[in-house]
Amino acid sequence: MTWHILGAGSLGSLWAARLARAGLPVRLLLRDRARLKAYEEAGGLTLVEQGAARRFPIPADLPSSSGPISRLLVACKAYDAEAAVQPLLHRLAPGAELILLQNGLGSQDAVAMRLPHARCILASSTEGAFREADFRVVFAGHGYTWLGDPLHPTAPDWLSDLEQAGIPHGWTPDILSRLWRKLALNCAINPLTVLHDCRNGGLSEHPAEVGVLCVELAELLRRCGQPDAAEGLHEEVLRVIQATAANYSSMYQDVANGRRTEISYLLGHACATAVRHQLRLPHLESLRQRLQAHLEMRGLPVN
Ligand code: NAP
Repeated sequence: MTWHILGAGSLGSLWAARLARAGLPVRLLLRDRARLKAYEEAGGLTLVEQGAARRFPIPADLPSSSGPISRLLVACKAYDAEAAVQPLLHRLAPGAELILLQNGLGSQDAVAMRLPHARCILASSTEGAFREADFRVVFAGHGYTWLGDPLHPTAPDWLSDLEQAGIPHGWTPDILSRLWRKLALNCAINPLTVLHDCRNGGLSEHPAEVGVLCVELAELLRRCGQPDAAEGLHEEVLRVIQATAANYSSMYQDVANGRRTEISYLLGHACATAVRHQLRLPHLESLRQRLQAHLEMRGLPVN
């Protein structure tokens, strides 16, 4: 069965190249004719791993072209996912499965609402990749991808494809807990690195600010039925700050490069969920407002 991959950016290309390298059928779905032409001119996708580049001439077409889709990896940013899936709806075969790679929460529900008859599998990945140039992606950090379906605990049979492709992964019955935990870690670290203009390690100079955010985030996680994700949150945040001290957070890099952030699906989602649960989290809310003001000042979208 063909792996259709929507979005040939960093993570989409990383998956596509490894699946194709393992001899599995892969097809890219690119945004529009101009992107398809640029892809054809590039002669395929290039993956750079440990300094060595290899090109994969993976076939590509447009979402609007014909042909049924049974398995779709959605590899767009969270803010693009729902609109990107829309033109594919008529192509989805009965029993189609989607794998949603988006960080944060909110976009997965938006996609699933449009597809009441398809299975949506959620992913949470710690792998790292970035685009060095168009259709040229660097595999920057080895990691692990958790997959799960909050509605059906049974693992799909195509996990063997991931095994074959060397994509480290695990199936979990509790993917929402993992996504919430990652979201909370992100909320406690990334916005502060933007506001303090520092690497992750710089936050060790702001222990009180980090601590109070962790208290509020843990309260939120417990209130929205994710007590496991709240367990030991502060300790893990401190561990991550230490272990990644020399790194710039993804949000920091987005802002520094003038790119739109995924704020609405991270801090924005946390604050909106608190409001829905009538929970007052003043420090988290103030963080959101300060971050939005900062983005506005830089001419970036605040959502
Ligand atoms: P990215 O490099 O910006 O790639 C996103 C891709 O989606 C781009 O190639 C973009 O096309 C494409 N796209 C957007 N709208 C589309 C549409 N309507 N039709 C077809 N393609 C469309 O983003 P990314 O870094 O791979 O991130 C994807 C998700 O994975 C994010 O939620 C991110 O937080 C998460 N994630 C990323 C990493 C990482 O290391 N990169 C790690 C963990 C999680 P164009 O090329 O035409 O712009």
